[in-house]
Amino acid sequence: METAEIARRFLSFFEKNGHTVVPSASLIAEDPTLLLVPAGMVPFKPYFLGQRTPDYSTATSVQKCIRTKDIEEVGKTSRHATFFQMLGNFSFGDYFKETAIPLAWELVTTPVEDGGFGIDPEKLWVTVYLDDDEAAEIWRDKVGVRPERIQRMGMEENYWSMGVPGPCGPCSEIFYDRGPEYGVEGGPEADENRYIEIWNLVFMQYERGEGGDKGGFPILGELPKKNIDTGLGLERLAAVLQGVDNIYETDIIGRVLHRAAELTGTSYGDDHDHDVMLRVVADHVRSAVMLVGDGVKPGNEKAGYVLRRILRRSIRNLRLLSGESDTLFLHELTTVSIDAMKDIYPDLLDKADVIHGVIDNEEKNFADTLRAGTALFGRAAERTRQAGGTQFSGSDAFQLHDTYGFPIDLTLEMAAEQGLTVDETSFRELMQRQKDTAKADAKAKKLGNADVSLYARLLEGAGRTEFLGYTDSASESQVK
Ligand code: ATP
Ligand code: MG
Ligand code: MG
Ligand code: MG
Repeated sequence: METAEIARRFLSFFEKNGHTVVPSASLIAEDPTLLLVPAGMVPFKPYFLGQRTPDYSTATSVQKCIRTKDIEEVGKTSRHATFFQMLGNFSFGDYFKETAIPLAWELVTTPVEDGGFGIDPEKLWVTVYLDDDEAAEIWRDKVGVRPERIQRMGMEENYWSMGVPGPCGPCSEIFYDRGPEYGVEGGPEADENRYIEIWNLVFMQYERGEGGDKGGFPILGELPKKNIDTGLGLERLAAVLQGVDNIYETDIIGRVLHRAAELTGTSYGDDHDHDVMLRVVADHVRSAVMLVGDGVKPGNEKAGYVLRRILRRSIRNLRLLSGESDTLFLHELTTVSIDAMKDIYPDLLDKADVIHGVIDNEEKNFADTLRAGTALFGRAAERTRQAGGTQFSGSDAFQLHDTYGFPIDLTLEMAAEQGLTVDETSFRELMQRQKDTAKADAKAKKLGNADVSLYARLLEGAGRTEFLGYTDSASESQVK
């Protein structure tokens, strides 16, 4: 089943069950505590917190999400993307566990010809929170899941709260068993690679007080109105229903992956390291398209930096795969990604020119940065090795940053490829010193202490010396 069809079926199932279909919100979070939306419930948060009242008591959506914290997992696990879509159904003081659990099961197991996803119940396992007997009973008695297929999980996995006083409660998750070739028997408790998490059902049941997040907070009582928030990973379900090994090989992301292999002259499936890189490229290009589509521009801070980092990681991986440093690959891959996503997001077609403009420009700037800095990097790495060291100095990393605009991420990665570490502590000290100096200078200027007139006259006389070191991405000093 195609990804777009899975999304349609999900919405229509919940619509038939009385839910209002709510379009995805932008990736740029309205919530000031977040940069980008990491979960389907985010746009509904004010309703869950009782700050606003919705026009409906139940809703369903396919929400665009970005999880930057998963970036290092991408391509290495079978299931983590930076951009993904969360299918969700929500109840605002309407139905609770007794309805949410059977509805989820019904959709997942109803045969395809009858509008469901047709997953064999024998392939499914579920988890509930340690003391949530209520949920366990619903799974066992109402749904008919065998007791040995219901596992109990602790705080870390199966408890939800926002980290602050407010609503909280247990979760229950549905897992798909990919079979013995993916790992050991024993349910999600035993192997998270073999048993892949597809759907999280959150039961907002209690009011929590102040305290640490790992259970170190008091429960103040039951919420007067209990809520449901669920999240089903669209790409994960697509991988299951399409019978592929991982989310990067599904119909949409897979198209970018295979085109990237063609363009770089590699062959997917031949070499583990290359495969990881191809998966990273496929994931990251798509995330970049979606971020730019929602108005994010590459920059050195916040969402802009997330985008820049994602684009630079794609470019680096494409260079490593192809062994070429002069070819620009992103234009073509962006075209493929937009084409693959246009059924779900037709607005991408109208925005295609803008998306290409932003991505092409960043790729070109980064190529200039790399060209300028790579020689210096090579010399510094050589010096380090000749001195018998394995640690790239903080001052070299700082110079690369300051003069050539190398983000520290990039230096770390390039050093690691050569078996070197980087003295990050001294790098950060130098960054701090530079910041302090800049601050002091600014202050001095404000106080009118600096006599710039002589300097200005000198410059006029001598003609300005052109400083060639910087690229437009030179200053990343705000980046933490
Ligand atoms: P995992 O344990 O596999 O990292 P999670 O517990 O962090 O997943 P949730 O926060 O429960 O995930 O999110 C709800 C659902 O969203 C998950 O069950 C999964 O299907 C999907 N999902 C979460 N993170 C990702 C991701 N990085 N890429 C793709 N899908 C994801
Ligand atoms: Mg996770
Ligand atoms: Mg999990
Ligand atoms: Mg989860």
